[in-house]
Amino acid sequence: MSTNKTKANRENPRIIVIGSGMTGLQAVVKLRQAGLDNIIVLEKDKRLGGTWRENSYPGIACDVPSHTYSFSFAPNPSWTRMNSSGAEILEYFEQVADTFDINSVIHFNEAVTQASFDGETWQVKTSHDKTYIAEMVLCATGMLHQPKYPKIKNLDKFKGDAFHTARWRHDIDLKGKRVGIIGTGSTAAQVIPKLVKEVGHLSVFQRTAQWCLPSIDFAYSKRNIQLNRKYPWRVKFAGKLYNFIMAHTISKSLIGFRFQKLMLDYFAKRHLNKSVKDPDLKAKLTPDYDPGCKRMVLSSDLYPALQAPNCSVVTEGISDMKEKGVVTEDGKLHEVDVLVYSTGFDNFAYMRPMDLYGISGRHVNEIWKDNTFDCYKSVCMSEFPNFFVMLGPYSPIGTFSIIGLSETQTDYVIKLIKKWQQGEMACIAPKASAEKAFVNRVAKGMDNTIWTTGCNSWYINSNGDPVVWPWTLSQWNKEMKEPDLNDFELGPLTVQDWRSCNEAPAQTTEPAV
Ligand code: NAP
Repeated sequence: MSTNKTKANRENPRIIVIGSGMTGLQAVVKLRQAGLDNIIVLEKDKRLGGTWRENSYPGIACDVPSHTYSFSFAPNPSWTRMNSSGAEILEYFEQVADTFDINSVIHFNEAVTQASFDGETWQVKTSHDKTYIAEMVLCATGMLHQPKYPKIKNLDKFKGDAFHTARWRHDIDLKGKRVGIIGTGSTAAQVIPKLVKEVGHLSVFQRTAQWCLPSIDFAYSKRNIQLNRKYPWRVKFAGKLYNFIMAHTISKSLIGFRFQKLMLDYFAKRHLNKSVKDPDLKAKLTPDYDPGCKRMVLSSDLYPALQAPNCSVVTEGISDMKEKGVVTEDGKLHEVDVLVYSTGFDNFAYMRPMDLYGISGRHVNEIWKDNTFDCYKSVCMSEFPNFFVMLGPYSPIGTFSIIGLSETQTDYVIKLIKKWQQGEMACIAPKASAEKAFVNRVAKGMDNTIWTTGCNSWYINSNGDPVVWPWTLSQWNKEMKEPDLNDFELGPLTVQDWRSCNEAPAQTTEPAV
């Protein structure tokens, strides 16, 4: 790809994909299949795989069926388990990259530091002091890639080893040691059962109890795998079936479907009641909010692990850190040799820390400064023409097949690029009014959802507003099927045009759901 600044090339647009995780990989394959093959991928690390490369903690696995965690164009008959391990998923991605010759277009160890739009093309600067020019940028940096560390007084005073689950220190031997883990989300639920088997004592620091459902996980028999290889329809069918079940059970329970909600409540409470006998521990582990408000934990090993003789669940809040360990609000010092932060991710970082400048010259931090994530259909932003935030704000995350979502968004982006190639629009930028209408409509849609019933979770921003899709998957698929050009600027877009468009009163072109 040239680094010379030239006029936009509609016939063979230069496309930069940022990131070679799950979303970046499928984007390359799908763009090429659509005849858009002038692509490079800029990857900050030396290896592809995104979150499955970054996270290597003990117990890492997909907590949903692997057959839903496969690309539509590369179904995998060889998954060895219902819920495959992180290593197996990473291996699958590497195989896909080989099969579809993706490595040849990845620039490894080259992080994007800045991207700006000049009205025609994107200038993308990297850690190699290079500037690439491209017509289109697909930002596939993932949602959960910036580890979030707890804000605790004197955190740095602790003299033992301390690390985040996404930066697992495999060089530290935990055998027989006193280990503390802060956090009880889906990651901790996978780590804790492994740690209790290895460490001397495990202190689990729980700020908020989590609802948990048992997971259904088992190894596939050799015969099953052979049959999958022989009859590929079985693999596709299994993926479709599991997706259907998820979409019509847990997912619906979160968005106001009464029967599904009752079932979720029933199964979550039943799992807790059946698994935990000690009333004090049960009280500690019983959340004070409805199941599903935080992302459901899926684990059959968590409750037994929390009841292991070498495990204690600490629910007093953390007030301070000392050289030897963690001090809780009751004044007690919990001495630990090693501290693990299972405290999640800054999921609202999106493309950041990259410096992203739009057509008005404004930085994305300024546009999203109040934690209001203005965007159109999750992937487009009015100030950032020809730039697509994959798995962006309000994507239907959490309970759907994330691979399916990425593919649907990529198909939508491809349709937009095709329209741009055919000259139907000067550049791909939603109207600011359409963007506002989208965000307002989604905000109104939250009224019946679980996320407004009072809990704190990574789906909810610092203003208390949920940033997820509040309707069904089929509604989302319907809306993502075909771009509505009424919602896009069609004429040439200069900074002046952009400003004057945005001084106009907002109009709603969004249909009511
Ligand atoms: P998370 O769900 O955001 O959980 C973070 C945990 O850290 C929470 O328990 C939180 O408590 C706690 N915490 C944060 N700051 C704290 C502090 N100062 N003191 C005490 N506790 C603190 O993060 P995660 O477990 O890494 O999971 C993130 C998401 O990754 C999941 O929801 C899921 O979507 C995805 N994931 C998926 C899989 C899979 O297999 N598919 C596996 C792992 C993760 P509060 O609840 O009080 O905030």
